[in-house]
Amino acid sequence: MDLPFVSQPPATPAGMRIGSRMSLRIYNTLTRTKDVFEPVVPGKVGMYVCGPTVYASPHIGHLVGPVLFDVIKRYLVYKGYGVHLVVNITDVDDKLIAAAREQQLTVDEIARRYTTEYQRALERLRIDTINEFPAVSGHMPEIVAMIQKLIDRKHAYVVEGNVWFDVASDPHYGRLSGRSTEQQQAGTRETLGDGKKSVADFALWKSAKPGEPAWPSPWGDGRPGWHIECSAMSMKLLGETFDLHGGGDDLKFPHHENELAQSECATGKTFARFWLHNGLTRIRTKSKSGEWQQEKMSKSLGNVISADALLDEHGPDLLRYLLLSTHYRSPIEFSDEVIANCGKAMQSFHRLYERAARIGATPDEKSQEVDQASRTMLDTAAADFIRKLLQLKMRYMESMDDDFNTASAIAVMHEMASEINAYIALTRLEYQSAELPKQAVATGLVTLARLASLLGMKLDPPMSASDDASTGDLAPKLIAILINVRNQARAAKQFAIADAVRDQLKEAGISLEDSPAGTIWRKG
Ligand SMILES: [Zn+2]
Repeated sequence: MDLPFVSQPPATPAGMRIGSRMSLRIYNTLTRTKDVFEPVVPGKVGMYVCGPTVYASPHIGHLVGPVLFDVIKRYLVYKGYGVHLVVNITDVDDKLIAAAREQQLTVDEIARRYTTEYQRALERLRIDTINEFPAVSGHMPEIVAMIQKLIDRKHAYVVEGNVWFDVASDPHYGRLSGRSTEQQQAGTRETLGDGKKSVADFALWKSAKPGEPAWPSPWGDGRPGWHIECSAMSMKLLGETFDLHGGGDDLKFPHHENELAQSECATGKTFARFWLHNGLTRIRTKSKSGEWQQEKMSKSLGNVISADALLDEHGPDLLRYLLLSTHYRSPIEFSDEVIANCGKAMQSFHRLYERAARIGATPDEKSQEVDQASRTMLDTAAADFIRKLLQLKMRYMESMDDDFNTASAIAVMHEMASEINAYIALTRLEYQSAELPKQAVATGLVTLARLASLLGMKLDPPMSASDDASTGDLAPKLIAILINVRNQARAAKQFAIADAVRDQLKEAGISLEDSPAGTIWRKG
C-alpha cells in the first residue's frame, strides 16, 4: 500500500514503511540538476567511490566521503534496494614509492600498513556497508586490457613504453567539470614531454623506472596511471554502466573527467549515471594577526586532524553528527566551537533517553516503530502524539529524498526528541505510571533510534543515569517526588523552599534543568 505524500497520514496506515515508495532526487554533477533516481537494473544499485591512496595515516578529510556514502547506502537499502558499494584502494602510486623510500620499507609494506589503518578508522566510525575494497595491484590484467581497447579504438597512443590518452579524440571531454580546454590545461600538473601530443593528454601506462614496482604489458614493463584504475575496477565489479559514482570535490577534475572520458571511449556506453561530489573539510584557525580563517585540510598544508585522535576524543556518534549536520555538497568546518556545539546537540538526545529510562519507558523487544504502532495506537488517547511522530518521520524521509539532505534530517530528529519530551511532560509520566503513554514514548524512541541508525548513529548515552548502581531503583522515584515538591513550592511563590530543594539535590550530585517540556534531572 502506498502512503500518499501528504502532511496528514491516513487514519489506518496498514503497517507500510514510510518513505519506501517516494521518489529520490539526487544532484548530478554531470547534469548540474537534481535528477530523479532510477537504477539501471530495477531494485539494484551499483555504487563506486574513489578511495584513498594508502601512503599515510587517514585524516578526517578521508572519512567524509565514506561516511556520506555509507549513509546513502543505508538509506537506499532502507528504501528496498540491493546495493553493492565498492571503494578502491590505490596501492600503486608515486606517493607510495616516496613513502617506502623514506621509511625504508617496500611499497607493499607501506600499502598494507596504511590500508589496515584506513579500514580500522572506517570500522571505528561504524562504516560497515562497503562490500569490496579492490586494490590496483590486483587488477593489472583488467587495466592492461582496457588500455589496449583504447589504443584499438584510436583514443590512445604509445610513445616509447608510455601510453597516453588522446584528449582531442573525445569530443565530449570536459563535460563533467565544465572546463574549457585552456582551463583543463591550467588545472593539471601535466606537462609536455615523454612524447605527448598535447599538454591535456594524460598517462594510461607509465614505462618502468629503475627501482620502482612494475608489471608486464604489451608496451613494456611499467605501471598504470592513476585514472585508469578506477575505470577498470569499477566496470569489472559493477558493469560497464552503473548507477552512482562518488568522490571528493577535488577529484572532479582531472580524475573524474579523465575516468569518464576513457571509460566511455572504451565501451561506447554511458559509464556512471550519477556523479556525486562531497565538499571538503575546512579547518578554522586563527591567523598570526588574530583573524579567523578557513583553509582546506590537507597533508601538504600540515593542518590535518588524524582520524584516530578525533575518534579517541569524541567517539563515532559525535563525528558522524558533525559530518552529517552540514549538507554534503558544502564544505565542512572543523573547529573546537563546532565540535562543542555538536557535543551539546548529542547530549540533548542522551538526556531524553536517560529521562525515558527513569520513567520506565525504555523500549524493549515488544516496542514498535511508529509505522506499526499506528495500526493500533491511532484509536487511543495517544493518537495525537502518534500522528505527530508519523508526520515527523515523513519529513525526515522527505529530507533524505531531497538529495540526501542529512542536515535537515537531523533537524527533524531534534524536533522528534522535543515532541517526545513534551509528551512525557503532558502525560506527567515522571509522577505517575501509565501504560499507554509509556508505550507511546517507547514507540517514539524506537522510531527516533531507527532514523538515527540510517545515519549510522546511536542516540542513547553510553551509560544512562538510571543504570548506575549508586542511584538504585528507588532514587529516580524520590528525585521525581522532590522535583514535584519544588514545582509546587514555586507555584505557591515559596522560592526559598524551591531553591533549597534544588541546591540540596545539587549537593547530592543531581542537577535540575527547567525547560518548557518540564524539569529534568541528570547526574553531575
Ligand atoms: Zn577514482
